[in-house]
Amino acid sequence: MTLLDRIRSRIEDEGALTIAEYMEMALADPEEGYYTSRTPLGLQGDFVTAPEISQIFGEMLGIWCAEVWHMLGKPEMDVLEFGPGMGTLMDDFLRATRKVAGFHEAISVQMVELSPVLRGHQQELLQGKHPRIHWHTHMPESERPWLVIGNEFFDALPIRQFRATEAGFCERMVSLAEDGQGLAFAWENGESSRLPGDFPRMVAGELPVDTIIEICPDAQETLYLLAQHIAEKGGAALFVDYGYTRPEDMDVYAGGDTFQAVKRHEFHDVLETPGEADLTAHVDFSTLADIAVAAGCYTPPVLNQRDFLLRMGAVARLENLLAQARSEAIRKTLSDGFNRLIDKNEMGELFKVLAVMPAGIPAPIFTCETGEEDA
Ligand code: SAH
Repeated sequence: MTLLDRIRSRIEDEGALTIAEYMEMALADPEEGYYTSRTPLGLQGDFVTAPEISQIFGEMLGIWCAEVWHMLGKPEMDVLEFGPGMGTLMDDFLRATRKVAGFHEAISVQMVELSPVLRGHQQELLQGKHPRIHWHTHMPESERPWLVIGNEFFDALPIRQFRATEAGFCERMVSLAEDGQGLAFAWENGESSRLPGDFPRMVAGELPVDTIIEICPDAQETLYLLAQHIAEKGGAALFVDYGYTRPEDMDVYAGGDTFQAVKRHEFHDVLETPGEADLTAHVDFSTLADIAVAAGCYTPPVLNQRDFLLRMGAVARLENLLAQARSEAIRKTLSDGFNRLIDKNEMGELFKVLAVMPAGIPAPIFTCETGEEDA
């Protein structure tokens, strides 16, 4: 039985699935789930991420974290990475911080990874790079302060979609297609005027009819728990992802339908081949920031990836690498990769950086207002 057959028979037995239930099966099914059964990243895979494009990305995250460690008074800490992919980000993070006196001695690395296949890649790459690297499938328990990082983690978590009507929110469900073969979307009638959970705080009757809202319950819960830990035990978190923020003067913002599938570097139908395409949604950064505040932390205004990297001094690092490069081909790869990360038409503006801080600790480089700082 293929994964599609199993999804169909579950719908026959239990009725239509929420998008979250569908994503859960398509991405995390123990045998045929997208993340559990394959290596999705890289040129041979389905998509490429910032750490795979340029080593400078992971290096800058490492330096940012080491700076926070200094500001916190150099405590013993856990460095947690959520969704570490091929392990490249952590490899660059550790190399870039090796010379920060005392940092590697003070940290233990905790990798939170669901996929056994990717965990294998991470273990191979990070072999011997730090004496304390541990793997977990879920957020670990710990009494120490946390430095938390994640790139393209939240976009991979299951979402639910709602549409505002005059009677209340309807939910978008995954059902059986009329041709009896595939899957199709259907709106389930709902009377509830509120969304499940506390965020975002929206009431159906106050929104224009047909507004579509996405929520990501797992992202909300994860962020709440780690922000609570940071508020109580200290630390900081830095998450990079593609997504949107709500304009400051709006209480209500709906990002619309951002549910998408990518297969072999091309957009793909989200319902067509579950388990074979990456399914994601854009991240609602404003809601995540609200949740961090509800958990006792504060968040400086979200920066886009371009501003984050430029303010971190990534251009100087690039120049340094270019000067050391042994061939024109290497120099071109370095420049092209870096430009892809910061270019406004590529990843520079779509990707955003959220910092979650405990009260009283300024977030390095976030403190000044966003603005163009082109070199
Ligand atoms: N950060 C990496 C990989 C991003 S892809 C990079 O930038 O290259 C998303 C990652 O999140 C993968 O490692 C995937 O296996 C992991 N992942 C997805 N859902 C997860 C979950 N619920 N818990 C832990 N890891 C998860």
